[in-house]
Amino acid sequence: MLTKRQFLIAGSTLATLSCAPAQKKSLHADVIILGAGLAGLNAARLLASEGAKVLVLEGSNRIGGRMYTLDDVPGRPEAGGQQVGSTYARILSTADDLGLNIVPPAPGGSRDKTLAINGDLLNASDWAASPHNTFPDALKRFTPDSALFVAASQKNPLEDEYAWRELAAQSDLSAKSFLEQSGFDEQSLKQIDIALNANSLDTYSMLNVWRSLVIFSQSFQGGSSNEIEGGAQRLPEAMAKSLDDGTIKTNTMVQGIDVDLNGVDVHTNQGTIRGSFVISTLPFPVMKKVKINAPLHEATREGINSLPYTQIQQVHLTVENEFWKNDGLPTTMWTDTPIERVFPVRNANGETVSLTCWINGTGTKPNVSDQEWKDLAEKTMLDLRGAKTTASKVIRWDKNQPLSGGAYMHWSPNQAAKIAENMATPAGRLHFAGEHTSHLHTGMEGAMESGDRAAFEVMDLMSS
Ligand SMILES: Cc1cc2nc3c(=O)[nH]c(=O)nc-3n(C[C@H](O)[C@H](O)[C@H](O)COP(=O)(O)OP(=O)(O)OC[C@H]3O[C@@H](n4cnc5c(N)ncnc54)[C@H](O)[C@@H]3O)c2cc1C
Repeated sequence: MLTKRQFLIAGSTLATLSCAPAQKKSLHADVIILGAGLAGLNAARLLASEGAKVLVLEGSNRIGGRMYTLDDVPGRPEAGGQQVGSTYARILSTADDLGLNIVPPAPGGSRDKTLAINGDLLNASDWAASPHNTFPDALKRFTPDSALFVAASQKNPLEDEYAWRELAAQSDLSAKSFLEQSGFDEQSLKQIDIALNANSLDTYSMLNVWRSLVIFSQSFQGGSSNEIEGGAQRLPEAMAKSLDDGTIKTNTMVQGIDVDLNGVDVHTNQGTIRGSFVISTLPFPVMKKVKINAPLHEATREGINSLPYTQIQQVHLTVENEFWKNDGLPTTMWTDTPIERVFPVRNANGETVSLTCWINGTGTKPNVSDQEWKDLAEKTMLDLRGAKTTASKVIRWDKNQPLSGGAYMHWSPNQAAKIAENMATPAGRLHFAGEHTSHLHTGMEGAMESGDRAAFEVMDLMSS
């Protein structure tokens, strides 16, 4: 790694060269970083600590991107990233550096679950004998939201977190084909599709599932998942605060990127800003709408155009009666109704104070208004459980959300072998980071990993 002094010298040399009269363009920063989520903030902190002049452009008025704590909803539910695995080394050490505690989830959690299926309510423990269950005999006791993982874990071809890229060509079939080969009928597939962490079984590669299983199993060896005390968003907020004043420009929407031999112009709603290098952490559905003039690798271009993002919508409901005491069933639910799954949000005393209805993939309705969603969620909970609730918020991680386009990337079948290796290849002075470009981890730690990589790519160039 460069010393601070070497890096400063390299940076200022570049800046001087780029400001030479022949170019008539002055630099606003050594490195412009697009996006103030975990990836962008991690890259910014690393580069700033080495003396680079960094500018972070953020389209929203909020810091954190997909780390989003709903501070105004009872129990402070997380709308985005929440669970911190034991292998999240960068998240854990950054939190520690910034004085944030990592704590266990609120007390009172349970794996028990209610299933609402074809108008019947049953405890998940009765699922194996239910007439609605047509799963293969060996897997009958697993609920529709766990069956894919259980079946996949029995046949995981990946040995470690590196193997998904190496085996991408041989082991890349759709979740639908895998489940059919494992003996699931059409009715079972529909049930499993409801809780799928993607858009549909046939457009979801099994590589995603096997990769997650490897990561989960490593993480479980170190203990169960924890959370950031006070809310997940406190981490990006603290990272932002650790940067010099003026480093982050919020409400600055990136609209175009022009790369030339000496620098990069970033066109925004606040004007054009020039840097020696740019690191873009923008999710690819967002990049698709940005006008890019750069020598993009074919794999990057294809990723920008076609990388799928899991569509998620959430309806947050405040609980007004202890409805679970009336029917004696668990509060957590898997349903075949439009609200799909329901998770209780507990306060520090373990009391359920709000609910999150979690809708994935084909169940999302990007064009349905917030009010329609709220009415539907309240009515469904009343009809199913006699639950009196007030819907307070709808969160959309869907294709119409201009700052993300979805919750997180996943691979479609046969895509990873084609583009994973080169999707984050720098295009001249334009570098790429963000959870979608990570190699070893996914989620929050993947975002941090990608920020490290991109920052080091730029440091290398600045020092050469
Ligand atoms: C519902 C949900 C649950 C999750 N649960 C977990 C979990 O439990 N554990 C886990 O590890 N991970 C989880 N994740 C994933 C994790 O939150 C993300 O992987 C991570 O936060 C992504 O960070 P990032 O920096 O790559 O992207 P982002 O956080 O999306 O950062 C990109 C930034 O770019 C900004 N931006 C977008 N467009 C523009 C533009 N045109 N101009 C300027 N700025 C722009 C955005 O506002 C955003 O701040 C979850 C995510 C979601 C949505």
